[in-house]
Amino acid sequence: MPDGIKADLPSAAHIIAERIEREGPIPLGDYMAIANDYYYASKDPLGEEGDFVTAPEISQMFGEIIGIWLADLWLRQGSPDHCHYVELGPGRGTLAKDALRSMRKFGCHPSVHFVETSPLLKAKQAQLHPDAIWHDDISSLPEDGPLLMVANEFFDALPIEQFVATSAGWRRQMVARDRSKFVGVPSEEVAEERVGSSMSGFPDDTILERSPVSVEVMGHIASRIAKQGGTMLIIDYGYTKPGTGSTLQAVKDHMPVSPFDSPGSSDLTAHVDFHTLANIARTRMLKIHGPAEQGQWLKSLGIDQRAEALIAASPKETDTVLAAHQRLTHVDEMGRLFRVMAATAIDWPEPEGFSYGEE
Ligand code: SAH
Repeated sequence: MPDGIKADLPSAAHIIAERIEREGPIPLGDYMAIANDYYYASKDPLGEEGDFVTAPEISQMFGEIIGIWLADLWLRQGSPDHCHYVELGPGRGTLAKDALRSMRKFGCHPSVHFVETSPLLKAKQAQLHPDAIWHDDISSLPEDGPLLMVANEFFDALPIEQFVATSAGWRRQMVARDRSKFVGVPSEEVAEERVGSSMSGFPDDTILERSPVSVEVMGHIASRIAKQGGTMLIIDYGYTKPGTGSTLQAVKDHMPVSPFDSPGSSDLTAHVDFHTLANIARTRMLKIHGPAEQGQWLKSLGIDQRAEALIAASPKETDTVLAAHQRLTHVDEMGRLFRVMAATAIDWPEPEGFSYGEE
């Protein structure tokens, strides 16, 4: 590769290009991990001026309702003292600010723990939460007391692997370089053992996704909640039944771009496999609630009433509040695409917000 091309590439592309030069094509999961580590460390991607907007940045109502949901569970569990609010990938810390404000109104004052890898976002979180404790991963979370855990748009950012069906069997999706571009190529060796023996008979080019990193994170969280008590609330876009097809996507300036164009300068995500995450939690004896649609969940927890109260308190904000309510709940916006799933310790109460489907 001529040096001129390398010099023009952003750093994540440079790191990936050098690795491919040394080792040959690299697994898609490694490509995604390098790209996203660089991406989140180099910029704050959130908000209208960034690459994408998340629910807590749309309205305070989102975090407040999560706070009420957590506080309600905590109260019905007998208000255990010495519990911990834990957020995975807290972005700017906005959700935590709104949730903790609601929780304190109910007398719930947990210690605050953030699992975050980006130094830039940690600094932003510290402005709102000077007393929080940061963790590079979940292994160092406190081991005493219940965990009240939240992850909004966290799992979608974790690396996935893809497998491609060929006449010779499943091959792992790798990333290679084709002159100045990155391209997906199937591995030379078959990778049947990584897919599972029941996965046969698929037409050529069928794609299967797996996220070993998400599986590991969920397994660890579930073991902790089973032992310490508490709950894990996951909000994200994803699928609830096993399926096929690529869900890898990249977003930059609020527009879809190719996942193979300039890694590290766009947000690379994949749909979350709720089915697998739920099964992992069940094997650790947790109870699963949902996945519910975000719009239905927020409504059953009182977002309509909260919007009315905000409007009554500040009538000049009416249009802003109504627009935010619509974005968070409407089926054509975030209301149906995003799902809410809770994994709760077996001896904890039934959480609110998941029974509307049975009514
Ligand atoms: N939850 C926030 C931000 C979502 S963006 C919101 O809803 O606004 C994804 C977040 O996860 C960012 O804070 C990013 O830095 C963090 N993140 C991504 N990969 C991570 C990893 N492997 N470990 C810890 N945090 C990670």
